[in-house]
Amino acid sequence: MVITTRTGQDHGVVASRHPESILHVDLDAFYASVEVQKDPSLAGKAVVVGGTGNRGVVASASYEARRFGVTSAMPVVRARRLAPDAVFVAPDFDAYRTYSNRFREVLLSYTPLVEPIALDEAFLDVGGAGRLFGDPEAIGRRIRRDVSTALGFSCSVGVAPNKFLAKLASEHAKPDGLVVVDHRRVREFLDPLPVGALWGAGEKTVDSLHRLGIRTVGDLGAVPAAVLRPVLGEAQTAHLTNLAIGADDRGVVPYEAPKSVSHEETFGHDIDDDVAILREILSLSRRVGARLREEGYAARTVVLKVRLANFTTLTRSRTLSSPTDVGTDLNQVAGDLYRALPGTGRRVRLLGVQATGLQPAGAHQLALLTAGRWGDLERAVDRIERRFGPGTAVPATLVGREERAGPGNPRGRPVDPTRPDERDARRTGEALESGGQGSA
Ligand SMILES: [Mg+2]
Repeated sequence: MVITTRTGQDHGVVASRHPESILHVDLDAFYASVEVQKDPSLAGKAVVVGGTGNRGVVASASYEARRFGVTSAMPVVRARRLAPDAVFVAPDFDAYRTYSNRFREVLLSYTPLVEPIALDEAFLDVGGAGRLFGDPEAIGRRIRRDVSTALGFSCSVGVAPNKFLAKLASEHAKPDGLVVVDHRRVREFLDPLPVGALWGAGEKTVDSLHRLGIRTVGDLGAVPAAVLRPVLGEAQTAHLTNLAIGADDRGVVPYEAPKSVSHEETFGHDIDDDVAILREILSLSRRVGARLREEGYAARTVVLKVRLANFTTLTRSRTLSSPTDVGTDLNQVAGDLYRALPGTGRRVRLLGVQATGLQPAGAHQLALLTAGRWGDLERAVDRIERRFGPGTAVPATLVGREERAGPGNPRGRPVDPTRPDERDARRTGEALESGGQGSA
């Protein structure tokens, strides 16, 4: 659905910024759509996410459920009355985060200027992306196609000169659509909307405006500020009169990248065997790689930290020629750094692998090119682990990793205090099954 579209200008070689460069992308019925992906038998059914009992509120409803009048934030009891035959499921935030990360990966493949505002929606500034991917509307279409391929369900896209208009546009596009607000036809788009559609116009403000006979954005735009000020105050008047003409100068603020991703382990018993130490470095590198992919970043620099039995800490780092999010690459560097340490016969009490110099995974094609099949393999492992749980896919070198007994660590396996399962295992003195949860 396109309400207003640009008219035949050729933007192919125009270097200047396109007037409609802001995108708002919003996944359709996000939680419910993920539930359908998890259980395809739910496709086409009224699905309500929000607890299987009668307590709580609706977190998300499929469009089929919305047809019965079910909406987000509605008490579940009420939703059950409206749609007694709907399938009610409890939320699964791990799955939503996984899908949200895939969503972000799609968006970051077009521009680093992505501002996530929820798990399922984000603003993009594609003003600089045109040369590679086409004009903003073309990018919006590509994103819709990519999201549907990567996630299995639809999203809606608003394309506009600013964030405020882009968000309104995506609302109009829902579900499964795209709306472009041409910068020359902003008033045409805005004027018929109810004043409540304006960002920051709460119930009280809307009531005040209604009392002045102002119902639509067009009405508001036609009223002099002097009439509004006594009712709304200076700040709110300025804010709303700006929005009524479609003015919004907020920039897209990209998500602040974490500075680094790292994993370290303190061993229950000092390790003095180089083979075992290198195996631990591989395990740490793989976890760092998995986290980088999960967070959507690639790293340029690898830091190895080694704390010896006498508490001396050695730190070594190396910068790669191109960024990577592949554990095997990180391990290669970290392993080299370890082998290059001076001296022999060291006893190690802690190992750490850190990836820094992070950049958005939008550039991850680079790492894929250099990482080749290892990158593909690790992504396949990510998929298996997403499905069957962590530790279900382990490289051969880590299977049956030797366990060393020691005080406070009966089975001698390394303990990661940041992992609740490991804490529990240690507290109860029960070892986890090797090759099962937590062994990689
Ligand atoms: Mg949404």
